Amino acid sequence: MQIKTLSLLLVSLNISANTLMEPTSKSEDLYEGVILDGTYSSEIDRPSVYLGFEVGERVAAPYQISNAVLGWAKQSDRMIVKEYAKSHEGRPLYAIFISSPENLSKLDEIKENINLLSDGENTNGNKARALIDELPAIAWMAYSIHGNETSGADAALAAIYHFIASEDPETLDMLDKMLIIIDPMMNPDGRARFAKSLQEYRGTAPNYDDQSLLHTGDWPYGRTNHYFFDLNRDWIYLTQPETQGRVKLINEWSPQILVDAHEMGPQDTFMTGPPREPINKNIDKDLLKWGNIFAQDQGNAFDERDWRFYTGEWHEDLYPGYSFYVQFRGTLGILYEQSRMAEDGVRRPEGTIQSYKESVHHQYVSTMVNLKTLLKNSKSMYQDFWEGRRYNVSRDSNYANRTFVILPTKNNTRINTLAEKLKFQDIQLYKNEKPILVKNILKQTGDVEENFTIPPGSMIIPNRQAEAPLISAIMEFDADIDEEVLIEEKQSVLRDGSSIMYDTTAFNFSMVYGLEAITVPENISSNLVNWESSNQSIDVSNEAVIWATDGVDDNSVAFAARLMEQDVQVRIIDKEASLSGYNLSRGSVAVIRMDNPNITNLSDIVSKVASELNISIVSLDSGFGPEELPDWGGRHFRLLKKPQIAILSHEGFNSYDVGVSWWSIDHHLGIRHSQLNTSILSYADLRRYNTIVVPSGWALDDNSKKSLNDWVRQGGTLIAHNYGTRSLIGDNGIGNVKHLRDTFDNSEDYNFDLQREIYSLENNINKEDALNNKVNLNINYPWESADKISEDLKKRDKWQSIFMPSGAMVAGRTDQKHWLTFGAIDVLPVLYGNYPILMTSDNAQAAVRIGELINDPSKESARAINWSTIPAGKDINVRMSGLVWPEASQRIANSAYLTREKVGKGQVILFSGEPNYRGSALGTNRLWLNAVIYGAGLGSNSEIDL
Ligand SMILES: [Zn+2]
Repeated sequence: MQIKTLSLLLVSLNISANTLMEPTSKSEDLYEGVILDGTYSSEIDRPSVYLGFEVGERVAAPYQISNAVLGWAKQSDRMIVKEYAKSHEGRPLYAIFISSPENLSKLDEIKENINLLSDGENTNGNKARALIDELPAIAWMAYSIHGNETSGADAALAAIYHFIASEDPETLDMLDKMLIIIDPMMNPDGRARFAKSLQEYRGTAPNYDDQSLLHTGDWPYGRTNHYFFDLNRDWIYLTQPETQGRVKLINEWSPQILVDAHEMGPQDTFMTGPPREPINKNIDKDLLKWGNIFAQDQGNAFDERDWRFYTGEWHEDLYPGYSFYVQFRGTLGILYEQSRMAEDGVRRPEGTIQSYKESVHHQYVSTMVNLKTLLKNSKSMYQDFWEGRRYNVSRDSNYANRTFVILPTKNNTRINTLAEKLKFQDIQLYKNEKPILVKNILKQTGDVEENFTIPPGSMIIPNRQAEAPLISAIMEFDADIDEEVLIEEKQSVLRDGSSIMYDTTAFNFSMVYGLEAITVPENISSNLVNWESSNQSIDVSNEAVIWATDGVDDNSVAFAARLMEQDVQVRIIDKEASLSGYNLSRGSVAVIRMDNPNITNLSDIVSKVASELNISIVSLDSGFGPEELPDWGGRHFRLLKKPQIAILSHEGFNSYDVGVSWWSIDHHLGIRHSQLNTSILSYADLRRYNTIVVPSGWALDDNSKKSLNDWVRQGGTLIAHNYGTRSLIGDNGIGNVKHLRDTFDNSEDYNFDLQREIYSLENNINKEDALNNKVNLNINYPWESADKISEDLKKRDKWQSIFMPSGAMVAGRTDQKHWLTFGAIDVLPVLYGNYPILMTSDNAQAAVRIGELINDPSKESARAINWSTIPAGKDINVRMSGLVWPEASQRIANSAYLTREKVGKGQVILFSGEPNYRGSALGTNRLWLNAVIYGAGLGSNSEIDL
């Protein structure tokens, strides 16, 4: 009896140790389809060996995918693995070259042949035919660039296994005739984040509710990489290691197709190419033709299996920074968009459940069908490709008589970055050593100037070269958009506020980088030398009293930041200077020996930091500046203060904007800073920071705003972007900057201040009138315009607000006396969207305003735009590139883009937009770096004591 009781007790203990209930059904049982339906060699491990489940049943974690790839590479002679990059978190990115062993043994020869075929200049028709005969079809199959769009990578794993293990004659034939490059997992860090959240939110029963945490994950979500970058916007700006490694390898191989497999909304079906309008005009029409042929075959395969799909609809192709940058180089881009499933499956509106495995199967079948279509058409596609390459360099092409020119700049860091990105794409760059006179030029503002002399030292980029379409796409000031597209867009904006533009409508490099450029309507090809990045000279003499670096160079900010982090006292010269025979721009950074009496190895530190940054240093043996120029003991040598930076973060903030701000400090400066979870703001010890960044977002509640307000009043520098700015100028805000809509009752006061600002820049005066002893009764007052300021401002504003741009370039006129604009050109292109329209009054300064004021004597009287007046003799340019409706131009003209206001002992710096956009808006990024690094020293002079 005793014994029996004991065993019963044990049984019940077992039951209670198992704390969770078994589900009544499993998601593995939802779908009967078989993904791997071939005959496979037993020599190669099944995917389940590495995964612990059948491929497609669940989401494979990045380490599982890597293990499978490396394991298979040991077993198969049909694949070669190339690691093309490491992610920020140290995960490898692989391209798997798959073909017959024979083809794989001559990869170099294949690569050489494809390069010969790409050479439109030297490869003639006969030679091209021979090469085409010889070349295998080449495909680049890439998956899951957005980490939470997982099904692609699982399908890639299945495809790799299929090709290396299959014994079917059809597959063996494909391997003989094709080189298939599989890029299974384009964003391992994002996928790891999402895979982790799948684990964390897993319960016992499968979950088919796409709103649940299992499906959504949480902030910052799995889509982006480590620094929250959208890698599928980075293909031309190349800011991230994943993209850099990948683009380098793709460009070496010029594949015929590039498949980019994504996922979209969970209640959707499946979408593939070809795209709908707007389509970038620089894409070869042949590719659109081929796109239709591939889509037709893919559609047939879906029809056969009763799978729903569609083409085009929302997939447009204007922005060249998607994976489809390859289309400008002659590769057909094919997009897959599978509805998102997490890993359990999703209950659809009709009540059925689509399983994850089925979505993997869609991606797999699409992969196989596209490869077969390529095999059928490879030779004709090569022929079109070669003809395209011939066209690019011919004197009869649309590109033949055009040259893009970046005007000389002292901003070596920035122009070197530009050169590096362009060279990545095999674009040839030149420099002129002598002036070149040209008949006319197009300026960034859209104005044409005749008889222009291109100064020596300019960067010259003739459009007539092998990569002509890509050059055109990323350098032309404006992408051509058809009238029909404009009509459709305008109708759609008016109808319900929606847009048919999927991404920004302006993206050209010179404007995004904030570099002055012109377009010349002729082919400049003589008297040029190859562009070489200029060498920096670091002259750190021990005898010097001051070491300085020019303030135009972006890395001068990093120079100051990295020195201050090492407790070196640093000054900024806030006015142009001439010292010991060197001309130094406004914003130059100076280290003075006398400021740092206790640092014995000061010159070593200065030298080391300068060489880390590849920045020029001059040694000055005197602090004397001739005439009225700054001397070292005067007020223009301003002492900086070490910034102690925090970036507000987490739920409620735009993860892209948080990520890019974080990245910008790590990438451009490399100094210590904190990301703060905003939820701790009201009880955190804010005295640790003197500079706080509020990224775009709505995360600040009234309590956090109050804490920030107290902190600013005690001396803090608060910097906000877009929605962060909106929340700070709204209810319970900080400072006096207002949203346009809150200023209509005193528009005249705002216009008064604006006129004062505009007239303060006038450099014409009539001396006789000015010194006349008689009272002049005919003074023209700026606001006395022919047309009165409109009385229906409110109604107008409501109408105009419908037309706000969704990402375009507008002219920012920079206050060249303000410290926030160190290193900025006079008319800085700024990316503008549906941003808060900032109005300044009282002691708030506008360091950048929207609209370039130009002289135009034909405008005889003053004119009003909404609340503001353009003085007589002036006109204003707002749009620079992309779609900015005239209504929007009127609305934002003369408003502020960047403001700075003293509040208590501290200051508030507001950006209307997101200055660090995609890590590539280097023009506005510089304004931000100035704010973050110089703000504590130049805008506030108090220790924070709360
Ligand atoms: Zn995607």
